[in-house]
Amino acid sequence: MFDKILIANRGEIALRVIRAAREMGIQSVAVHSTADADAMHVRMADETVCIGPPSSTDSYLSIPAIISACEITGAQAIHPGYGFLSENANFVQIVEDHDLTFIGPTAEHIRVMGDKITAKDTMKALGVPCVPGSEGGVSTLKEAQELAGEIGYPVIVKATAGGGGRGMKVAETAADMESAFFTARSESKAAFGNDEVYIEKYLTTPRHIEVQVFGDGKGKAIHLGERDCSLQRRHQKVLEEAPGPSITPEERARIGKICADAVANINYAGAGTIEFLYENGEFFFIEMNTRLQVEHPVTEAVFGVDLVREQIRVAEGWPMSFTQEDLRLNGHAIEVRINAEKLPHFSPCPGKITQYHAPGGLGIRMDSALYDGYAIPPYYDSLIGKLIVHGRDRSEALARLNRALGELIVDGVDTTVPLFHALLAEPDVQSGTYNIHWLEHWLETNMGG
Ligand code: ADP
Repeated sequence: MFDKILIANRGEIALRVIRAAREMGIQSVAVHSTADADAMHVRMADETVCIGPPSSTDSYLSIPAIISACEITGAQAIHPGYGFLSENANFVQIVEDHDLTFIGPTAEHIRVMGDKITAKDTMKALGVPCVPGSEGGVSTLKEAQELAGEIGYPVIVKATAGGGGRGMKVAETAADMESAFFTARSESKAAFGNDEVYIEKYLTTPRHIEVQVFGDGKGKAIHLGERDCSLQRRHQKVLEEAPGPSITPEERARIGKICADAVANINYAGAGTIEFLYENGEFFFIEMNTRLQVEHPVTEAVFGVDLVREQIRVAEGWPMSFTQEDLRLNGHAIEVRINAEKLPHFSPCPGKITQYHAPGGLGIRMDSALYDGYAIPPYYDSLIGKLIVHGRDRSEALARLNRALGELIVDGVDTTVPLFHALLAEPDVQSGTYNIHWLEHWLETNMGG
């Protein structure tokens, strides 16, 4: 059993890991930048180490500083949270070279899934359905045009190193191909230092459905159903729910088994998410995330499991504490991402919180690192809280979300809470009939884009 783990992250996800560790009797070490000296994760951890100045590059992304913090405190393992170093294979390698444990998959699995072309090839070989597209990278415009002609327009040009919705361009017709190809390449070069791109059929009205998987690293794996994350702005998720309103129990069992078998086959360790676009009853793999996702709590709510606890157990070499047969889907859960952003343009709005009150009551979970008087620093992403509601069914979850949003008080900064009040009044949101473009259209109509 680990005695002490270090959390290489900040904000709500750092608290999430500290809480799981404490329940397991494990001490936690928080690392922080100078800008986060007063942050909640620093207050809540058993030990703290300042690892650098405000800029993430010099603190939360500084591998030497994080390894040193482990050595100083005697932490035996590192939980990376999401973002920052969580999908950095080089970091995982260095952690292992220092005889520390990375709470997550192997460097090799991260490397394979981090490159979208090798990820797609691997998944295809494992029997996972993929979006029709190029076999591997496409290096010339001529090749891109020929392939797109075969696949049929519209197509999407995507960066193989892509992430966070960057390096993706749609070509509606052959006339758009030149600009889509070169723009995706240059965006990718600028963002990821790699200009390799590939081409996929562009699905026009899909939903984003992702399957939560979990492997023990020794050939056993299970799935925990799906999440529907179709409400997106600029390819970023805004609201997530489980189960997906459009997915039948038979579809869940079928795609879940395909995913669990795939990760079992490669001896995958820990939590992972296999993302699909879903259109006309068909699933198309787009990517795998080799880490805990922001939206993992909706899955925890409907299956009654603690995914972070499982991650820690598996990293220690323990078996998972449940089997596929133990898992029963119970009710419906919805998460909304609350950002410190000013509508209608979603401009970041850091600043001092003058009053904070979290909602409570049956079926409510608020994961947030806010407190009265906390000053949100301007250096990091704008997520300040996740409100997760659980009900016996979708309509109870929606009613509960409405009630909880009404109780929540975040004063001092602008937040995305008014967006959710408005969305809950929409018949399409109430009925769960939306695809990945619904929110962008709604924002254009209702907020001027
Ligand atoms: P990233 O790693 O940057 O998040 P993804 O491959 O996961 O990139 O895609 C992010 C989003 O982009 C998807 O949720 C979807 O909205 C859109 N997208 C990606 N591929 C396609 C496609 N082939 N057709 C339609 N939309 C797509």
